[in-house]
Amino acid sequence: MNEETIQPQETQSLYFEVAPNVWGTKDVFVNMYMVRDEASGRWVLIDTGLRSSATKIRKMATLLFGADTRPAAILLTHGHFDHTGSLRTLADEWNVPVYCHYLELPYLSGRSSYPPPDATVNGGLMAKLAWLYPKKPIDVSDRLNILPPDGSVPFLKNWRYLYTPGHAPGHVSFFRQNDRLLIAGDAVVTTIQESVMSVMMQKKKLSGPPKYFTYDWNAARNSVMALADLRPAIIASGHGKPMQGQKMMAALHNLARHFDDTALPAHGRYVGESALVDANGVKYLPPPERFVPWLLIGMGALTLTLTGLALVLLRKRRSRNAAWHVHVNYDSLHHLVD
Ligand SMILES: [Zn+2]
Ligand SMILES: [Zn+2]
Repeated sequence: MNEETIQPQETQSLYFEVAPNVWGTKDVFVNMYMVRDEASGRWVLIDTGLRSSATKIRKMATLLFGADTRPAAILLTHGHFDHTGSLRTLADEWNVPVYCHYLELPYLSGRSSYPPPDATVNGGLMAKLAWLYPKKPIDVSDRLNILPPDGSVPFLKNWRYLYTPGHAPGHVSFFRQNDRLLIAGDAVVTTIQESVMSVMMQKKKLSGPPKYFTYDWNAARNSVMALADLRPAIIASGHGKPMQGQKMMAALHNLARHFDDTALPAHGRYVGESALVDANGVKYLPPPERFVPWLLIGMGALTLTLTGLALVLLRKRRSRNAAWHVHVNYDSLHHLVD
């Protein structure tokens, strides 16, 4: 059976409609979007998910646009591994250009690794496992193009992009003015991405960028404020289900106003000091958090406390036993005297 052959029951769960001419799909824990230009009928793919996502993306494209379809281009919100997993496969297969912000070029052309993820930030298992995530840059330089500096989006007439760094150096978000639809990438997400439970249950919660990859929290804060200023009516992000309506708008406003209380981790490698980047990649990294020593000190303190408690309990039990022995001895003595 051709892998593009779609079973009827598959169509229900393969993708979701975000708004007219915008559809999304989720693979494991990350979203990709297909956007059609109303006037020309051409479409683009925004982000490419994991390595496993290519099959799902092909099926979705066939369902939406017919067999042998291909997009006009692949656009990237940023180049993290969970947004570029199927990039090489699909770009080659479709023979299409890839567009990104110029500050994202080093990480997509093999020139620089991203600032390493920070597994010491609080939030859950997805963060704790961050040290396992792929770190090496991919190289798709033969297909790369820079997004136009005027903010326009190739092939999508009614859209513009916004530079929203902090989570990734050249992160961008895509915005459609007429219905205020925002494809936010990871600048804001609609679930608690650090928590496995939240990701698996797809719990809806408007949140700041995933903490373990965010290398510049000041930039991330400014990006959230810029997105809140857009007053989007619908947010479709890299992680979580799309959100819309008054509650979402209030949550975004709240996130921007109280970013340090709601999105900034209590501690982490990039919390006090950001990594520095330029057009050639990473220039400076703050030293890693002293994760192991603090863990060891914590475990040492716990061991001491438990040993102390055990000693106190043992002493109490001994003194109780001693009293019992005296009592027995006394009784037996009394008996002997009698
Ligand atoms: Zn990311
Ligand atoms: Zn992501």
